[in-house]
Amino acid sequence: MTDLIIGGTSRATARRFDVINPATGAIAGTAPNATRADLDAAVAAAKAAFPAWSQQPDDALQAACTAAADRLAAHAEELARLVTLEQGKPLNGLGSRWELGGAEAWARYTSGLSLPVRVLQDDTSGRVELHRRPLGVVGSITPWNFPVMIAVWHLLPALRTGNTVVIKPSPYTPLATLRMVEILNEGLPPGVLNIVTGDDRGENLGGAMAAHPDIRKIVFTGSCRTGQKVMQSAAATLKRLTLELGGNDAGIVLPDADPQQIAAGLFWGAFLNNGQTCAAMKRLYVHDSLHDAVCDALTAYARTVTVGDGLNEDSALGPVQNAMQFATVRRLVDDAKTRGTVLCGGEPGDGLFFPPTLIAGLKNGDPLVDEEQFGPALPIIRYSDVNDAISAANDSVNGLGGSVWSADIDAARAVAQRLECGSVWINRHGAIQPNVPFGGRKASGIGVEFGEDGLAEYTDAQAIFS
Ligand code: NAD
Repeated sequence: MTDLIIGGTSRATARRFDVINPATGAIAGTAPNATRADLDAAVAAAKAAFPAWSQQPDDALQAACTAAADRLAAHAEELARLVTLEQGKPLNGLGSRWELGGAEAWARYTSGLSLPVRVLQDDTSGRVELHRRPLGVVGSITPWNFPVMIAVWHLLPALRTGNTVVIKPSPYTPLATLRMVEILNEGLPPGVLNIVTGDDRGENLGGAMAAHPDIRKIVFTGSCRTGQKVMQSAAATLKRLTLELGGNDAGIVLPDADPQQIAAGLFWGAFLNNGQTCAAMKRLYVHDSLHDAVCDALTAYARTVTVGDGLNEDSALGPVQNAMQFATVRRLVDDAKTRGTVLCGGEPGDGLFFPPTLIAGLKNGDPLVDEEQFGPALPIIRYSDVNDAISAANDSVNGLGGSVWSADIDAARAVAQRLECGSVWINRHGAIQPNVPFGGRKASGIGVEFGEDGLAEYTDAQAIFS
């Protein structure tokens, strides 16, 4: 029953909305349904907190962010349980405890980063220093797939560089973020970190944030369609934008790969978080010569994976997160069944459960291949010439991630360089690191997160000539 947190204090709303546990359909909790006045109050609090926060010495900002990482660590189990309850992912494996571990690692690493003054010139004609200045109030808008980790990706670099924040989580998964903001507020001055939540039915809080005159930057992670709306709403105030959007990542298996050795990596590259991962493998191109062996090895692996309520310690995958997502997966899988061969899965389970589904015999142009399906289904496409596989992989509006699977790392690297995406992995898929810039090419995004490049996106450059 957490309320909004604005200016360091709880603020109750007249209305609350239900958050559903996707594993059971039961109500997992309720969240405040904020109004436009609540949003304005949150932005005003963040704006009021900005001068003092931004003028702190750099080591004080660093210490505050490290303390935030400590707080996340101290509350990891409580937050992981909330994530499982509202998001559906399992506690174990690559689930919510893993997400919390990642959130802490990112928070800690980002706290230790800095953007020192760069001296660009210092000679008889003068000195030029390049400083980085915080922007002001940053608005963070997050999706439902990794509610805590993605929030940390937004909050920590914003706070570390001296900005103040208003965060708005997805209506599907507001509970863990509300609690996290409450926990982090214990160590922050009032107004530095504020949260508004809403059900997206009446008030369009995200749209209002993107248009808000007192918000200087929006960091948005979500779908391409909403990203376009954010960009439109932000145009009037010329806001800075970081947009991390959808992907339709391809994996390419070269003829010399070992099907048995790569099966587990392929599986988790595609089915991490039930495929509800921006940089999950969503299409798999396999060379003729080992197509059947890869299909067999992947199918055998998929059959070993336990799907169930995420609160059961032995579940490796949970339900699909929400009914809309479930309907998309079902539509695309039903269509793919008429075009290809189901190797495993294909039929929905109870409620929002959908087993890992592998469908072979598909090609570019089939909806399961072309659309970002964002669920537990992987189309397998056969190829005979690697140039065709590269063209097919690049034949997408998206360009987030990709992977190449081969025993020959140099050959794989040569293919990797020809893929039009922001990250390419060899013999794995989707592994991200806090020190490596991550972002999409083409329609998958604008800007990057992580590392110094990501940190710089929360600042403006200021050159001082003397
Ligand atoms: P979504 O676009 O539906 O929602 C994202 C957020 O935007 C939510 O908080 C929502 O309330 C808010 N929103 C809704 N309407 C808005 C508007 N008009 N203006 C501003 N904000 C608005 O996305 P989702 O379904 O929650 O998440 C899934 C999508 O996110 C997938 O496409 C996935 O690929 C993408 N994603 C990308 C990354 C990445 O790093 N590239 C990471 C995770 C998810």
